Amino acid sequence: MQENLVQQIVEEVLQQVLKSQPSLQHDGKIPIGVSARHVHLAQAEVELLFGENYQLTPKFELSQPGQFAAEETVLIAGPKGSIERVRILGPARALSQVEISWTDAMKIGVKPPLRTSGDIKGSSPITLIGPKGSVSLAEGLIIAQAHIHMSPEDSSRLQVADGQSVQVKVEGIRPIILSNVIIRVSERYHLEMHIDTDEANAGLIQQGAKAEIVNASAIESLQPIERQAVMKTEEKSIFHFDKKLLSQGEVLAIDAQEIIVSKKTIVTALAYDKIRELNKTLTISTG
Ligand SMILES: [Zn+2]
Repeated sequence: MQENLVQQIVEEVLQQVLKSQPSLQHDGKIPIGVSARHVHLAQAEVELLFGENYQLTPKFELSQPGQFAAEETVLIAGPKGSIERVRILGPARALSQVEISWTDAMKIGVKPPLRTSGDIKGSSPITLIGPKGSVSLAEGLIIAQAHIHMSPEDSSRLQVADGQSVQVKVEGIRPIILSNVIIRVSERYHLEMHIDTDEANAGLIQQGAKAEIVNASAIESLQPIERQAVMKTEEKSIFHFDKKLLSQGEVLAIDAQEIIVSKKTIVTALAYDKIRELNKTLTISTG
């Protein structure tokens, strides 16, 4: 192996070790957080609803670092009804987004799409009413797709990749399996699965229950719709990476949009970051 390559790998592994925090979850069990209906607001909308220069007031911290539940709530209104006191989560974001359950949606007469957080293009319109004014969002109302937040260390331990879709089992008095649960990897994340109240109720799941990934690789092939959509919009190139370790430098050297690695390939934390930054797709080969 070339000396500079060895050095580069050592540096990345060192950085990964330095960045990693001791995880309390080593048994493959994933804590579950149940997300009640909530609103994320852009600062412009905070001011329209609560007044000029208004700042959200943190009420309590959420499990993901930096995120908080605000003291403030709004009323959300659809064509057939409304729901009062919907909690705002801070800090303010670039785009406003409202996450409700399908049960909520039926109550207020809307049909929001199932989306991952942040993917709101073409989602449903919704009206928000605050103490100082109201806002009609042309889009931004979604049902949040179940997802698992994790660090790069957790992702290599659990052998799943960012963006991958997995099947999850939750034991209990009414055991359920949730499919198409999206893996979200970031240095900033603590290991936690987020589901909405409908999913929690289906499995009689209480806050703090544990989930387990039962099928990571096989389920990946159940995403044909999303893949087709990507392929239609652009010439998608694929690179089969067959070495033992995928580092940041190698990600930079690969032109292809999708990088396919084997289950045995070690992907460094910095490589994950670079893949995200460059909007590339990392696929773990099932073969
Ligand atoms: Zn989440």
